[in-house]
Parts: sequence; C-alpha cells; structure tokens
Amino acid sequence: MKTLAFLHRNDSRFAVGDFYPVLSVFSHYELGNTVSPFLLLDHLGPGILKPTQLSKGVSEHPHRGFETVTIMFQGELEHRDSSGGGGIIAAGDVQWMTAASGVMHKEVFSEAFSRQGGAFEMLQLWVNLPAKDKMNRPRYQRLRADTIPQIALADDAGYVRVIAGAYLQHVGPAQVHSPMQVYDVFVKKGHRVQLPAQSGDTTLLYMRSRRAQFQPTDEEWDDHALAVMSSLGNNVELTALRDCHFLFLSAAPLHEPINGHGPFVMNSYAEILEAFDDIKTGNFIRYPAEGSDA
Ligand code: MN
Repeated sequence: MKTLAFLHRNDSRFAVGDFYPVLSVFSHYELGNTVSPFLLLDHLGPGILKPTQLSKGVSEHPHRGFETVTIMFQGELEHRDSSGGGGIIAAGDVQWMTAASGVMHKEVFSEAFSRQGGAFEMLQLWVNLPAKDKMNRPRYQRLRADTIPQIALADDAGYVRVIAGAYLQHVGPAQVHSPMQVYDVFVKKGHRVQLPAQSGDTTLLYMRSRRAQFQPTDEEWDDHALAVMSSLGNNVELTALRDCHFLFLSAAPLHEPINGHGPFVMNSYAEILEAFDDIKTGNFIRYPAEGSDA
C-alpha cells in the first residue's frame, strides 16, 4: 500500500485575469520532479460571475512544452486556440489541450454563461510532455461529460469518473503521451475505498472539499490540501470522514530535467530562451490552424 509521504498546502488566493479566487495547489517551482509528470494544479473558484456583457477570463497567452487539462465543475468556458481547436467547455466536460510546440489561446467564460452569470468552479492541471514530444503538433481534445465513464463504487459509496487511464476495466477518453490515471472521485462519508496505483508512480490526491483519512496510518487530509503519496507500494486506501470530492492522479515519472518559465516548460534553459525569441520573431506558432492565414 502507498502511504502518505507529506501534505502540501498553499492558502493564499489570487486572481488570474478575471478569474478569482484562484488557489495554486502546487507547482513544479515548489515540488520539482517530486510531482513528475504533473507540473501544476490551480483550483479556480468556487466563485460567482456577475452577469456581464464583457468577455471575462484570461486574455491571449502562449503555452509550449506541456498539456493543460481543464476540468469544469460549474460554469462554462469558451475556448479558441491558434491550432484551430476550440469550443464550449460545459460543466462536467474536460478540455485536454496539448500545447506541445506552441499555441496561443484565450480562456474566457462563454457568452451564454456571461449573460446569465452564476457559480463557477474548475481545476486546471498541467501535465508535462516527454522531451521527444515537446515540439509536436498541438492537439485539442474536448472530452464531453457523456464520454467520461462514471463508475459507481460498491455499497453506494460514491463514484469514480475516469478522465484518463483505466479504473477496473473502464478506460477514460483522454489520449495521453505517458501512462497515467486521472480520476474525479466522490466518496460518501464513512466509506472506505481503494484506488489503483503502481509502485514507482507519482501519486497525488487533491481534496476539493471535505475530509478523509489514509489507511493504514489514519493520517487525515482535509480541504484544499495536496496529498503526496509514497512512491513505493501499490494502491491507495482511504476512508471518507465527510462526503468528499477529490482529484486522483497517478503516473509514471518522466525522469527528465524540467526547465520552466511562466507559460513555457522545457528541458533546458536554452529552449526557454528559444521560446521567448520565437515570440519576438513571430516564429512561435509552428503549426497554424489549417486554412488560417497565420
Ligand atoms: Mn492557458
């Protein structure tokens, strides 16, 4: 069994563009290769968008060298990027964007949601790409809620939504570059569940809300904390002390150097400088959308 290695927690909230509050759950700046291949997790909301005619969110910005995974719980985003990918990301949907060699994009609330306003909540996870895939063609995967298997746990204990990888024989829809499991999990108070993880994997759990306890040590883990599990051991077992919602991540680490600066995550400093140079010289977008003039 994997055991709790340590809890990591940040408590200050800040704004990202018009998104507020945003909690930086963890980043590679703090935890380095300990969390490989995961790079960063932000929890946006829960918050309220007041009805507005304006396009609110984050204005156009680049990404290179990794993937952004946006998991929507409440509210609705609209997305358009330089690879031609885009559309609506509604509650329950996941957007898996492989920035790879480079995209420019905006992340804004949809027009319909902006007009009516309301509650929003989402997670954004950054997943590193293996060095050999960092300069690939960008790819956009819209994973609609109805394509994400939701598996009921035994004894009516809750559910596992399988975004990537497999849970039992159920396979999530995301196409990934290295083996990983990404689950959105709900466990009802008092129930004990076991989730699959391989020895040697990086295994992280983020508590979106409420509280649980890891077996066999009974160590507690509550709201907005990241649980970093031991590398050795198979599987994670926990008991929900309250009804709890959490994100479960488990993946083989990449064992490659990380050199990240803002929206670029590469292996070497030279590649970071190249990304900045490419922005200046207009060579950042290597694969424009088909049919575009760019
Ligand atoms: Mn972005």
